[in-house]
Amino acid sequence: MSDTRIDDLPVRDELRGKSPYGAPQLDVPVRLNTNENPYPLPEPLVERIAERVRQAARDLNRYPDRDAVQLRTELAGYLTRTGRHPLGTENVWAANGSNEVIQQLLQTFGGPGRTALGFEPSYSMHALIARGTGTGWLSGPRTEDFAIDVAAAERAIAGHRPDVVFITTPNNPTGNAVPAETVRALYDAAQAAKPSMVIVDEAYVEFSHGESLLPLLAGRPHLVISRTMSKAFGAAGLRLGYLAADPAVVDAVQLVRLPYHLSAITQATALAALEHTDTLLGYVEQLKAERDRLVGELRAIGYDVTESDANFVQFGRFPDAHEAWRKILDRGVLVRDNGVPGWLRVSAGTPEENDAFLDAVRELKKEQG
Ligand code: PMP
Repeated sequence: MSDTRIDDLPVRDELRGKSPYGAPQLDVPVRLNTNENPYPLPEPLVERIAERVRQAARDLNRYPDRDAVQLRTELAGYLTRTGRHPLGTENVWAANGSNEVIQQLLQTFGGPGRTALGFEPSYSMHALIARGTGTGWLSGPRTEDFAIDVAAAERAIAGHRPDVVFITTPNNPTGNAVPAETVRALYDAAQAAKPSMVIVDEAYVEFSHGESLLPLLAGRPHLVISRTMSKAFGAAGLRLGYLAADPAVVDAVQLVRLPYHLSAITQATALAALEHTDTLLGYVEQLKAERDRLVGELRAIGYDVTESDANFVQFGRFPDAHEAWRKILDRGVLVRDNGVPGWLRVSAGTPEENDAFLDAVRELKKEQG
């Protein structure tokens, strides 16, 4: 064992005293804390992945397709089919999870001397990736019910003139979607102020009651929409995120991407998953129904619930959210305390997992009143 601690090393000043991001990975019967898809991949898809990976393995002495052309073409096809907006290979870029997509975007458009603005509470990795890339972070406001107040947001953008604006829709951890008019207004404000890049993080959009914002890409070269296969495709372990944008944005991120960042195994696995899109989107429909059931039952029990367009639900209000988190955990169910005062977040699981969660919070309500 070493006596050296992180802060004994000459780490960058902004990393001193910080902890790595991550939800507790606890071994409990029901884990509903990381917005994963609870359904394992269907067996025919597992077989297809094995087949494609076997083929790819024969060429592992070579570097993979650096530009992941086939994968980007298939992703563009998926977006075109589901997003009411035609996109080609040149509009799409892929990386190891949308976290890496966002990191590449901040390496390209943020960095030292530049700033990014997000509306909090939101996905906390945006701020952490900003820190990791030396980008200054600005926290913009949300209303009491976690919506983005357009006038206040426009003032924040005009006042700070950020280089990058993040809009997460549906938002994590609150679950609510951002209307297209808001995104249009904030894009215009960001162009008037700088002009800056606007990144719409649509990690959960397949679970939404509404439609993707992909059609907004038309005529907006500074707009980027980031997506992932971690949620709707049930493939969090695959690590595949992607973006859709003007081809110039795709060219720009190539200035910072590591050569051959996307392994041949990742590309082969993602291509196999895309062949099974329809089956996987069938699970999404089941999860949406379970999400709606969670919202209804939580309200019936007497909790406040934020409107959800995602595969998770924010519920409260607790005088002490962390204590409530612990009491739910004592009943064998792991949910997430995102540090939003008074609120917790639960991911939609299988019907059985959701029943176990609902039993736990019903008991908690009886205990706490
Ligand atoms: N964006 C949002 C809003 C998320 O909640 C997450 C995952 N929790 C991600 C991006 C990152 O997903 P991944 O890197 O697995 O694609």
